[in-house]
Amino acid sequence: AAKEQRNSYRLFAPHWTETLPRQLVLENGLRATALDGELEVFYQPQMDCRSGRLVGLEALTRWNHPVLGLISPQEFIPMAEEIGIIADMDEWVLENVCRQHVRWEEVLGYPVKVAVNLSARQLHRPHLPERIRQLLQRHKVDPSQLEIEITESAGLTKAEATIRLLKELRRIGIGTAIDDFGTGHSALAYLKKFDFSVLKIDKTFIRGLDHDPVNRALVQAIVGMAHALGLKTVAEGVETEAELERLKQIGCDAVQGYLFSQPLPASEMEKFLASIRHR
Ligand code: C2E
Ligand code: CA
Ligand code: CA
Ligand code: CA
Repeated sequence: AAKEQRNSYRLFAPHWTETLPRQLVLENGLRATALDGELEVFYQPQMDCRSGRLVGLEALTRWNHPVLGLISPQEFIPMAEEIGIIADMDEWVLENVCRQHVRWEEVLGYPVKVAVNLSARQLHRPHLPERIRQLLQRHKVDPSQLEIEITESAGLTKAEATIRLLKELRRIGIGTAIDDFGTGHSALAYLKKFDFSVLKIDKTFIRGLDHDPVNRALVQAIVGMAHALGLKTVAEGVETEAELERLKQIGCDAVQGYLFSQPLPASEMEKFLASIRHR
């Protein structure tokens, strides 16, 4: 029935959706979107590798376009950057995450640390750490409950400014994660200079970890290096028990992926968290 509905909706969709390229339709929609209406924050759990306990959640934003349906952040984040609304969007996400954080503590009886992706363009906005600090304070969320994820390629370009930003976030007590590690171009020695608390191993290295000796060697080296520098490691994109087993052997700290849960709307994540609590 849902499919039928979608098809019939198509039939009566305004003419412009048929003629304008997808990109333009999306960009126009993104401009007009009241952020509260069509954007939604989904959450994916991060589990302790050994104990299987919940250690945090990553916030992943989705856009439910009225005509084109669910749009991936991979498609709309670059557009939001292009048209200059990414700062508003990131702030909207942070605001939502804080509100939800309060609710989780009520529903579950314990606080859950949340990781939020920040766009590269956001990083060098003036007073960003102070703005985040005030937001946390307004919602009475402890800074240790927030982790900011920054993509390697994005984060390490303006080196001096990024070093300062990370220091400031860490001083406030906010966690900082380097995302997609291994896919950028920065030297490993750079890690020493940047004040990260967490290293997220990109999912391309996790794929087939159990039978791919090259990936195994790489993940082993990355985890060893991260630990030597005092960083916690999170493997993303864990899909099979075999991959999880290898990560346990290697000594990775936390894992995230479809093996445990897909990213889910907050209400569904609440149910998931309630279910693992009573396990
Ligand atoms: P990311 O931060 O590297 O997020 C991981 C992506 O892998 C997510 O895609 C997630 O849904 C997906 N994933 C999770 N588990 C698995 C798995 O087991 N296997 C596979 N194949 N994939 C898995 P998603 O949600 O489409 O997000 C794409 C990217 O968009 C994110 O990459 C992040 O860089 C960006 N993004 C998401 N939400 C936001 C946001 O609110 N603000 C900003 N600035 N960027 C965001
Ligand atoms: Ca991320
Ligand atoms: Ca990632
Ligand atoms: Ca990514």
